Formats: sequence, C-alpha cells, structure tokens
Amino acid sequence: MRSAEIATRWNDYFAKQGHHIAPSTSLVSPDPSLLFTVAGMVPFIPYIIGTEQSPHPRIASVQKCIRTKDIEEVGKTTRHGTFFQMLGNFSFGDYFKEGAINFAWELLTSPESEGGYGFEPERFWVTIWNEDDEALSSLVNAGVNPDQIVKLTREEIFWDTGQPGPAGPCAEWHYDRGPEYGPDAVGGTVDPGGDRYLEIWNLVFDQYLRGPGDGKNYELIRELDQKAIDTGAGLERIAFLKQGVENFYETDEVFPVIGEVQRLTGLTYGEDKDADVRFRVIADHIRSSLMLIGDGVKPGNEGRGYVLRRLLRRTVRNMRLMGVDDAALPALLPVSKDAMKLTYPELDADFSRISEVAYKEEDVFRRTLASGTTIFDTAVAKAKDAGAKALPGADAFQLHDTYGFPIDITLEMASEAGLQVDEAKFRELMNEQRERARADAKAKKGGHADTAVYAGLLEQRSTEFKGYHELVTATEV
Ligand code: ATP
Ligand code: MG
Ligand code: MG
Ligand code: MG
Repeated sequence: MRSAEIATRWNDYFAKQGHHIAPSTSLVSPDPSLLFTVAGMVPFIPYIIGTEQSPHPRIASVQKCIRTKDIEEVGKTTRHGTFFQMLGNFSFGDYFKEGAINFAWELLTSPESEGGYGFEPERFWVTIWNEDDEALSSLVNAGVNPDQIVKLTREEIFWDTGQPGPAGPCAEWHYDRGPEYGPDAVGGTVDPGGDRYLEIWNLVFDQYLRGPGDGKNYELIRELDQKAIDTGAGLERIAFLKQGVENFYETDEVFPVIGEVQRLTGLTYGEDKDADVRFRVIADHIRSSLMLIGDGVKPGNEGRGYVLRRLLRRTVRNMRLMGVDDAALPALLPVSKDAMKLTYPELDADFSRISEVAYKEEDVFRRTLASGTTIFDTAVAKAKDAGAKALPGADAFQLHDTYGFPIDITLEMASEAGLQVDEAKFRELMNEQRERARADAKAKKGGHADTAVYAGLLEQRSTEFKGYHELVTATEV
C-alpha cells in the first residue's frame, strides 16, 4: 500500500463518516507562536481552545508537519522524521471518546477490500489514563483485548497546552511488531520507545477545563461545555508496517533517495550501522528541505530559514563524510521530488524555483567549507599536539570571523575529530566584537551608515548561534 493510498483511504473513510476533508495547510504554521506546523491540530487550535466555532463539527485531514525537536532521533530510531504527514480526525462538540475509538478500531482493522488498513486486531495495545473508565469500556466494547490495555498516570498520558484551558487524557495505539523486535510487554506495560511496540495513533480527548499549575500538576476544574476530539496518526508509520519494511526511511516516499545515495557513494545500505544512519539522515533531510522550500521557506540565519539551512548543510556534510565531495543536491533533490509528487503534484510545477534555492545554498556552503577546512585542520592538529581536549575559542572565532565558518559546523567537525570546543570563550569573543561594532557605530554617530548595518549583521550572527542550541545534538552527524 503506497503512502499516497494510505492518505486516500484515510480521507475516504472519514468522509464516509460525515467529516469535512480539510486540505493540508502550509508547513509555515498559521499559529504565530509556532515556527512550524507540528501536528494535524495546529490549523484547528482556535476550535480546540474554544476561541472560534468550527464551521464543521467533524473534520479530517492529512497534514504536512515538521518537528525539529525530533531531529536528533532521525536515522537512529525506526520512526522519526523531521518532515512527516499526520493523519487526523477532529470533532468539535460532536462525537467523543466512544465515537473516536470506534472509528480508529474500524479503520485499522477492517479489511483492505473494505477500505480499511487491514491490520490484525490482536496486534494492538492501547495506553489510557488509569481513571478513564469511559475509554476503557469503549475500547473493550470495540474489541480490544483487555489484557492489552495499559493504564498510565496523568503525568504519562495527559494532553494540555501548558496553560489554563482545555486538557484531557489520551488513548495511544501501539502496534506489536512481534517478538523478533524485542521482549514481551511485562507487567502490562509497553515500551513505546523500543522497536517492538510502535506508537501509531494518538487520540486526544479534550475533556476538562484545567487551572494553573506547573507541568501536569494542575486542577481539573470541571468538564468542558464543548468537548473536542483531536487525533493524530503517523502516515509513514502505517506505511512502514503496511509496506513490510523495517522503518520510516524505507517507505516509498523516502527510500528512493537512499537508493540514489548508494549510487553516488558506491556504498550499500544495510551493511554498516553508522553509514546507515547517514543514509537515513540524508533521505529525511532532503525530503524535509524539499517540502519546506516548497512552502516558501528560504535558507537564512534565523528561525525557519535557519532550520532549513541546517537540514541542507547536514545533508551536504553527511554526503562528504560518505566520500562525495561534488555537489550532491542536483542528484538527490529530483529523486525526492519524484517520490513525493504523487501526493504533492505542485512540487513538480514549482521545481525549478525549489531546486534553485537548494542548489544555491549548497554552492555557498561548499565554498565556505573549502575555505575553512584547511584552517580548521591546522587548528585541530595544534590543539591535539598540545594535549588539549577542546579547540580554543579563539580558533572557533577566527574561523567564524575570517572564513565565515559557522560555529555549528566547527562544533560538528571538532566532535568528529574527538575534540570539544571552548564555546564560552567563543561567545565572549563574539560579544566583544559586537560591543566594538556598537562603539564604532556610536563614535561615528550619523556618519557612515555602513557601520550600523554591520552591527546589525553581527546581531544576526549571534542569533545564528542561539539557533544552534535549539538543534544542538542534531549536529552530531
Ligand atoms: P513518539 O513517542 O513516537 O515520538 P509522539 O508521542 O511524540 O510520538 P504525537 O505527538 O502523539 O507523537 O503525534 C501523533 C502521531 O504522529 C504519533 O502517534 C506518530 O504516529 C506520529 N509522529 C509523531 N512524531 C513523528 C515523527 N517525528 N515522525 C513520524 N511520525 C511521527
Ligand atoms: Mg515524539
Ligand atoms: Mg509518544
Ligand atoms: Mg504520542
């Protein structure tokens, strides 16, 4: 079952159940407090928190998502992408727990010939809140084996927005991939982080009005007047189970890039653990970059643009580490586009613009690498000769200042060389430089306008540094 068909089946099923099918919104979040659309519910936040009334009581969608938070998992777990598609169904004051549970069960387990996904019913384990009797009885009535319903605490299974407003328990569906992927669930607990029990679908029941409090330590004041259902299932997770492959990265919309990387590097996927992580990171990042540029994001030093820049640079760096020094994107990006265009035909029409943005960024980065690498190597050799564990901050600063070598790349390359970087010193030098630029600008007061512009540029660079921290471990390619 191809990924595109998983999406179609989803929409067809929920349309039949009276849902309005909403098109995916952009990856650039419509909610100004978020950089990206991180879940299917994002476009519907006003309906969930109750500040607006939905024109449709039932909605379903297949939403493009980006989760930069998961970047460090990519390639290492079986199930995380930076870009993925979240299948969702939503009810605003319409059906509640029983309805949502029945839909999930029916769609997952009814035969493919009847429009379902055709999973074996015995495979499912569901985690619920230990006080949620309504979810429990609905699950049992639907046909879930009571021994495979796992009760968790409020800490473990509650959803909320982090502030007073709607909150509620979830029911999460896990698919048992079988004993070859790990030990049996012991004492009625599943290990959703392991390879065996794969989380595929989260049903969130927006049931309560919560008060203030830290973490999950808040009062449930009362039941909401208008309860809501917000669900999210990972399309690629269903795809990897249905396609009989081992993970997210081997599905039909991602794997073709791995194939192309094999061709370019002459290496074979599946032979070496470290190389496999690189194959998967490249395939993931190429796809995320394609989709981000498709939605209008441009590489830059801040915010969304910085995330895109990191994804593209990590791709280039990983290709280099696999022995490819030539420009790689002109080979990889079209392959990703062809794998995605069945679902997103607009990528084809827009590809000359998209590819121009990506290829230009690769060119700039390759030039930066070329100019800085020799200096970097000399600095590393010197630090090692001196028996130091860290590259001096002054070297990192010089690489940044003179050669345009971003600190994140220095950190990444130093880590590969077995060294840390004296980041505190680097930051201190950056600050001093900024102060100097400010003082200069002031001294020239209204004189040469360029100085002020320069100070502005330095500010931007310092945000780049902050941005790195957001993605910090992501850089350990
Ligand atoms: P996990 O525990 O596996 O990280 P999650 O609990 O963070 O997943 P939810 O926020 O519950 O995920 O999102 C709903 C569904 O979206 C998940 O059940 C999963 O199927 C899918 N999903 C979440 N994050 C990713 C990702 N990074 N890549 C692919 N699918 C994802
Ligand atoms: Mg997660
Ligand atoms: Mg989870
Ligand atoms: Mg979850």
